[in-house]
Amino acid sequence: MACFILFGPPGAGKGTQAALLSGLLSVPHISTGDLFRAAVSEKSPLGVKAQGYLDRGELVPDEVVIDMIHVRLAQEDAQKGWLLDGFPRTVPQAHALDALLTSIDQTIDVVLNLSVSDEFLLDRLLGRGRKDDTEDVIRRRLQVYHEQTAPLIQFYRDRNQLTDVDGSSPVEVVTASIEEAVKPLLA
Ligand code: ADP
Repeated sequence: MACFILFGPPGAGKGTQAALLSGLLSVPHISTGDLFRAAVSEKSPLGVKAQGYLDRGELVPDEVVIDMIHVRLAQEDAQKGWLLDGFPRTVPQAHALDALLTSIDQTIDVVLNLSVSDEFLLDRLLGRGRKDDTEDVIRRRLQVYHEQTAPLIQFYRDRNQLTDVDGSSPVEVVTASIEEAVKPLLA
């Protein structure tokens, strides 16, 4: 059972690292951003609810995200662990995750905090070319990160669950640091 959270600002490289790490750990990579983008392109009821928030770089309301995670963690492939990417993103989401995990008898093994400075992030995000990656929306996502998501660093640090990883190095170096950090948990 390996239950991991990959945490970091937009553009920190969570998606890239999560894809590699989920292979290493043999657990599903659960990205709330990917789930929302899929819902938007399918025009499902969830997608219709989420679209405006994604387009503006705002967070989708907590109860919508929490319901979606609830459903996702109940699926068969998530019973032996998971790697969450992009969730939780607010303190209420972190509390909701605690309650959910208690009810399904799971615990978080580690929260990997991929840290990168804002100057780096802006350049990376502008270079990525995703539909919601215009400069205004990116600036708004960074602001939302600092206001609503960054407080979770202290939340998980206080619980001794946080491991810092420098996300500004080249991809392979970041991957190696993450592997080093999770190795003791796999033994
Ligand atoms: P980024 O790479 O910019 O961090 P993500 O792919 O993780 O972006 O998320 C894209 C968008 O999906 C966010 O800007 C937000 O609108 C929505 N989203 C993703 N995860 C959450 C969440 N946990 N809570 C609220 N909104 C979310």
